[in-house]
Amino acid sequence: MRTHGEFRVSVTKDYLVFSSAHFITFAGHRCEALHGHNYRVGVTLEGALDEQSWYVLDFSAVKKMMKQLCDEIDHKVLLPLDNPKVGVVQRDGTIHVDYAGTPRYVFPAGDCALLPIPNTTVEMLAQHLTRRLLASLSQIQIAHLTAIEMEVEENFGQSAFYRELLG
Ligand SMILES: [Zn+2]
Repeated sequence: MRTHGEFRVSVTKDYLVFSSAHFITFAGHRCEALHGHNYRVGVTLEGALDEQSWYVLDFSAVKKMMKQLCDEIDHKVLLPLDNPKVGVVQRDGTIHVDYAGTPRYVFPAGDCALLPIPNTTVEMLAQHLTRRLLASLSQIQIAHLTAIEMEVEENFGQSAFYRELLG
């Protein structure tokens, strides 16, 4: 059956979660105290059917990639590398974090996930996870995909979506 319509597949599994610590900065001179969330992740992929197999993407491949991305940041302190007010410096196996030039935290390096984002909001985490997933997806055939949408929930009923058009 030939079709001109588009399909959408979605993966939101119980194990696509990460429990991590973070703090975000606000406009002006406000910065949250360190705290944690049990984050949940969901992804939707849009596109034409794979011509050989009649699916958009192999669910097992997507689930595996998403699980791997969650594991990368699970049980970590999430730190933004691109925040002009937050300094993140690695020294002798520890990460020194300052806010507006004032020392604030020191963590073991292995407990931190240093992320190339300006703030660890769910919006930025969703965009970051989208980029990481695209890097994983680039190893398989994804020319037929047209969009990817990532959801990151930090609390029940409180989530952000990032949607990126492909191609
Ligand atoms: Zn928070």
